[in-house]
Amino acid sequence: MPETQRDAKFEEIRQLLQQHYPTLHLTCESRQWLIKGSFPVRANGVEIDHYLIAILIPQGFPRNAPLVKELGGRIQEHPDWHVYQEGFLCLFSPLERWKHLPETATIITYLDGALNDYLFSQTYHEKHGKWPLGERGHGARGIREYLIEELGTDDLSVMRRFLEYLGKKKIRGQWRCYCGSGKQIRFCHLAKISDLHNKITLAEARYALQVLDRAMQRKLVE
Ligand SMILES: [Zn+2]
Repeated sequence: MPETQRDAKFEEIRQLLQQHYPTLHLTCESRQWLIKGSFPVRANGVEIDHYLIAILIPQGFPRNAPLVKELGGRIQEHPDWHVYQEGFLCLFSPLERWKHLPETATIITYLDGALNDYLFSQTYHEKHGKWPLGERGHGARGIREYLIEELGTDDLSVMRRFLEYLGKKKIRGQWRCYCGSGKQIRFCHLAKISDLHNKITLAEARYALQVLDRAMQRKLVE
């Protein structure tokens, strides 16, 4: 991104925060954009809690998702608590980033939506010892749950082929369809996979396949 465009984008985020989240502040450290401060968790418009957080805004936001850490030591680093190993919070599965951060998303979309939902769940869990209903599983389980919904099957070979194709730069019509029909993809599920190829980045598809494969291997050796 050219420097002037980058400056304008930075200023836009700074102003949005000032307006909607005055307790959060945008800084630029070693050319990285960081939002730090106290995040107010809201339920039906009412503030019910606060978390000390730091958010890294990547270049290419919103197609690249922000990385967020909780700094107050309230969220434990255990997969059951929806935390990635590197200490970043796991707000949504990589395959569903596009639902939470469509092309038109701003930083407020992210804060009001995925981040608020996530921290609300954490507060609920602290209080009641269980997760709110409708919680998506984390890691490989979340990826599998999404694929079962999206593809209407829990056949792992179909899921793997689907992710392999999504991880390619271009989908070729003459490939065998991922669904296992034996037909060429152009006579089968081309429209469906092309749509998701536009929404899910290559990196997201490849990462999801890695996570799924690692989970499968672990089950084989256990
Ligand atoms: Zn098909």
